[in-house]
Amino acid sequence: MHYGSVNGKSPAVGFRDALFQGMAPDGGLYVPEQIPHLPTPFLESLPSQSLHAIGRRIISLFAGEIPDHDLSRLIERAWTFPIPLVKLEENLFLLELYHGPTLAFKDVGARFMAQALSYFLEKEQRHITIVVATSGDTGSAVAHGFYNVPHVDVFVLYPSGRISKLQEQQMTTLGGNIHALEVEGTFDDCQHLVKQALADREVVEARNLTTANSINVGRLIPQIVYYVWALAQLRGAHGIQTPPTVVVPSGNFGNLTAVAYARSMGTPIDGFIAATNANDVVPEYLASGTFTPRPSVQTYSNAMDVGNPSNLARLQFLYKNHVETMRRDIQAESVTDEETLDEIRVTYERTGTVLDPHTAVGVRAARRMYGLIFPRPVIVAATAHPGKFPEVVQRALGRQIPLPAALTEGMRKQKQSLFIKPDYREVKALLLSPSSLS
Ligand SMILES: *Cc1c(COP(=O)(O)O)cnc(C)c1O
Repeated sequence: MHYGSVNGKSPAVGFRDALFQGMAPDGGLYVPEQIPHLPTPFLESLPSQSLHAIGRRIISLFAGEIPDHDLSRLIERAWTFPIPLVKLEENLFLLELYHGPTLAFKDVGARFMAQALSYFLEKEQRHITIVVATSGDTGSAVAHGFYNVPHVDVFVLYPSGRISKLQEQQMTTLGGNIHALEVEGTFDDCQHLVKQALADREVVEARNLTTANSINVGRLIPQIVYYVWALAQLRGAHGIQTPPTVVVPSGNFGNLTAVAYARSMGTPIDGFIAATNANDVVPEYLASGTFTPRPSVQTYSNAMDVGNPSNLARLQFLYKNHVETMRRDIQAESVTDEETLDEIRVTYERTGTVLDPHTAVGVRAARRMYGLIFPRPVIVAATAHPGKFPEVVQRALGRQIPLPAALTEGMRKQKQSLFIKPDYREVKALLLSPSSLS
């Protein structure tokens, strides 16, 4: 498989190069040059396949450079947790993507990407340093994904006092090859420092500096796998043959791009709903045909507070910029904070299940289409565990829910971070001698 740039001005590269480069030299996102088709016998065999077997089959189509037996090993190391399709109501299912170490779906992609990078680094006997700025979830998924992974050091820059205690604990208690820098400033300051580092030839060359943001194909491709796995479970465990509608709570639209790829590959999916919060530039684009990025606004589903979603470029590429065709496949719905709280209550009263605010946005978007009774199968991507958002759940239900063990253990560990001013000279000194930190 070759990957080209959505901007069309960079040479095509293989999976390895797209993985290491992140973004194409022309500033565009990498996309597969063609979307491979899944053969009918494979689709028919889905009910008897495992998550790992489906993963091997799909990822091998996109990353042919990794031999099958190595790919098996990477997948086994990356996905050490289940991704169950759970029935919530008649015809309404949650694809629980949040059973990884940071209890959000980003673990699935970040952990595969970490294993894939490490695989090539081991072969090439090289070491790299990854630097990321985070407003919360990305940093913790990357930190956990790369924790103890050979040949990699990670620096996570986060804004002091501006992320939740839980998110901070998840990034700062690992130690080892994960270095947390607590920046006296905003997320934008962190991002600016990362950009300065990536533009500093001396540091880039001395440390093999790179980044690991959500646009990397190493995170996108593995996300295709769980939609095919959802189909396998719908047909197998739940005995439903009708192609489902898939609802994806969306921010940067990577997860929605993955389901669009899964469908293009021939996975029987009827259509999808892109559910956003008040950050509704994509619903607006589908309705009007005009894309107007805006600064993001803060909502209860804060991991989806994105005003300029980068993966829209991949969707436009897939649909050859035909907004009419896109509209036929993708229904987009924007859900308010009030509706999000109301949905947490409604679903809790109907089923006893507590939704996290992001998943609640998805379920509410599905109910807009169908109301309370679902005549056809609907799968909502459940992107986070509700225990990660105790304040919102408290507001909706008037009470707390018990934290999962993984979170309570994390809360007790010692925070190890270095407090720095938003001054690039400090960051540079640390990047050049990471051993001074640990
Ligand atoms: C990142 C995130 C999203 C948005 O996913 P995209 O792929 O950026 O659209 C949704 N929910 C949660 C919990 C997230 O962390």
